[in-house]
Amino acid sequence: MRAVLSIGSNMDDKWALLRSVSEEFAGQIVAESPVYATPPWGVEDQDDFLNAVLIVDVDESPLELLRRGQRLEQQAHRVRVRHWGPRTLDVDVVALFDDAGNPIDCDTEELTVPHPHAHARAFVLVPWLAADPGATLAGESVEGIVDKLPPAEVAAVRVVEP
Ligand code: ATP
Ligand code: CA
Ligand code: CA
Repeated sequence: MRAVLSIGSNMDDKWALLRSVSEEFAGQIVAESPVYATPPWGVEDQDDFLNAVLIVDVDESPLELLRRGQRLEQQAHRVRVRHWGPRTLDVDVVALFDDAGNPIDCDTEELTVPHPHAHARAFVLVPWLAADPGATLAGESVEGIVDKLPPAEVAAVRVVEP
């Protein structure tokens, strides 16, 4: 199964926290986007985020993959204080594909794939497109979805160096 993971951090050592995800998936990474600085989405009075997208090939089930990401969040001492508020590390499963490249959908209490907000989030789609220029989300090209987002939101997602 191929998974598109959106990772983000806006607290503590953001770079090291993103790196902890790359290290967890070392050997399973198919593509990795640059790191982007992005304005907060949904709740705006908080520090900017670092965001990236990892595309990984994994053997476990979708739910086990979610739990693997949640374990990294816990290791980052993530505390849920406020919905969409500041966090040390967030690992979201954006999309899943089977070995033939067909999308895998999930609709359970714990896991919804494709991620329900992905299509509206420049901080997810812009890195994803960088990692995979041919990416599709729910049958639509990610490039086309990005083209329809407000240009200011797309422009606010900027590549940064450590
Ligand atoms: P958002 O999901 O809007 O990006 P968030 O990342 O801040 O918000 P969390 O508090 O990290 O939300 O996660 C809340 C719950 O979302 C998790 O406990 C998890 O079970 C559930 N969830 C459902 N679908 C997904 C998914 N595709 N990826 C990650 N978590 C998911
Ligand atoms: Ca999230
Ligand atoms: Ca999350």
